Amino acid sequence: MDIAIVGGGLVGSSLACALERSGLSVALIEAADTPEVTPGFDQRKLALAQRSINALERLGVLSQLSVPPTPILRIHVSRAGDFGRTLLDAADFGHAGFGAVVLAQDLGLALAKRVQSLQRTRRFCPARVLACRFSAEGAHLTLSAAEGEKHIAARLVVAADGTDSFIRTAAGIATRSHDYGQTLFVCSLRAEHASDGTAYERFSNQGPMALLPMADGAYGAICGIAGADAPAIAALDDADYAAYFQSRFGWRVGKIHATGKRTVYPLKQIVAERLHAYCAVLMGNAAQTIHPIGAQGFNLGLRDALSLAKLALTEGVHESTAAAYSASRQDDRSRTLAFSDGLARMTANPGAPAHVLRSLVLLALGTAPALAAGLVSGAMGYRGSSRFEEVL
Ligand SMILES: Cc1cc2nc3c(=O)[nH]c(=O)nc-3n(C[C@H](O)[C@H](O)[C@H](O)COP(=O)(O)OP(=O)(O)OC[C@H]3O[C@@H](n4cnc5c(N)ncnc54)[C@H](O)[C@@H]3O)c2cc1C
Repeated sequence: MDIAIVGGGLVGSSLACALERSGLSVALIEAADTPEVTPGFDQRKLALAQRSINALERLGVLSQLSVPPTPILRIHVSRAGDFGRTLLDAADFGHAGFGAVVLAQDLGLALAKRVQSLQRTRRFCPARVLACRFSAEGAHLTLSAAEGEKHIAARLVVAADGTDSFIRTAAGIATRSHDYGQTLFVCSLRAEHASDGTAYERFSNQGPMALLPMADGAYGAICGIAGADAPAIAALDDADYAAYFQSRFGWRVGKIHATGKRTVYPLKQIVAERLHAYCAVLMGNAAQTIHPIGAQGFNLGLRDALSLAKLALTEGVHESTAAAYSASRQDDRSRTLAFSDGLARMTANPGAPAHVLRSLVLLALGTAPALAAGLVSGAMGYRGSSRFEEVL
């Protein structure tokens, strides 16, 4: 094989699609039994930057979605107790939308369908990588599959195997981590005012909240809660959780009528010290697992995948591919990590100076067009210099 992708989650599957035109032989190895039970294909709602939407369209994935992406026409940012509030309207920036929202499960199943139609990718699923050894020729993987043990050799191995990446450990790449001390609750909800394309971000001392517009007038609801309070909130029934959400979010969308099943995520940042070693490269959550508040994780992971695909399409795979990939990701990665982590820490810090700063930032965003335009272009995914669209 030229390339073995370990992990068929959102990022690994996107990479397989992006490599289709490269002419290279690709293996995609995924441990989950079926797409329906793949861990990342769950009920989380993903805000995708416009650049990600465009890329997924070119990769033939968007047409496989069961529900078209719901466009984000406006972004409303507020902070409990602060007088500043910001409303960004895509039309004022000359755009049809800032991006769009999809259900991770729907996107995962769409990717799985697209992957099945790929000619250059051989799927090993379910199969788990149990061992990875490196030599001058490349990587040698041992898989446990339903038929028994299998062996694959590849010139380049891609770690797209998530936060606890086995390949990252095998390649000897260390991580640094930060626990935000928060738990994130995710569910769908319905309110008196149906969603109209506005995405709401609300910050408070208890943690960030967001309402994302979904199909059929529903919302994707995200609520950050201090870790110590999480068990009590998890124990609330749906009606009491709706009342709790309302008490923190306020009445911008009218009365909250009903909430769906809640999914709970502990919030940690885990960042790999390097993006390559030997003939291995890291991408997606294996490279960086970040706070979801900035809605950057998959958007960044997709740009990781597209950057490697661009290299493979234009130069093929050789000894310096891993290092070239790593170098190509530095700028976008470090800026996105700083943005997400800064936003998470700044909005969670109850200290007075931060309180003043937040109001100023929010007001500045509403009144200073250049600063707001910078935020918008970041939100739309136009961060980093790599122009991989040309080769897709
Ligand atoms: C609540 C929440 C909201 C989010 N919202 C947004 C958002 O709005 N916008 C955004 O861009 N991002 C968002 N994210 C981030 C986004 O979900 C992740 O960045 C993305 O799902 C990472 O995908 P991945 O493929 O890198 O990793 P994963 O989804 O973890 O996939 C890894 C895959 O590897 C497989 N695997 C692991 N080990 C092995 C092995 N040894 N052998 C074979 N296979 C293996 C696993 O089964 C899994 O399928 C959010 C995250 C959360 C938690």
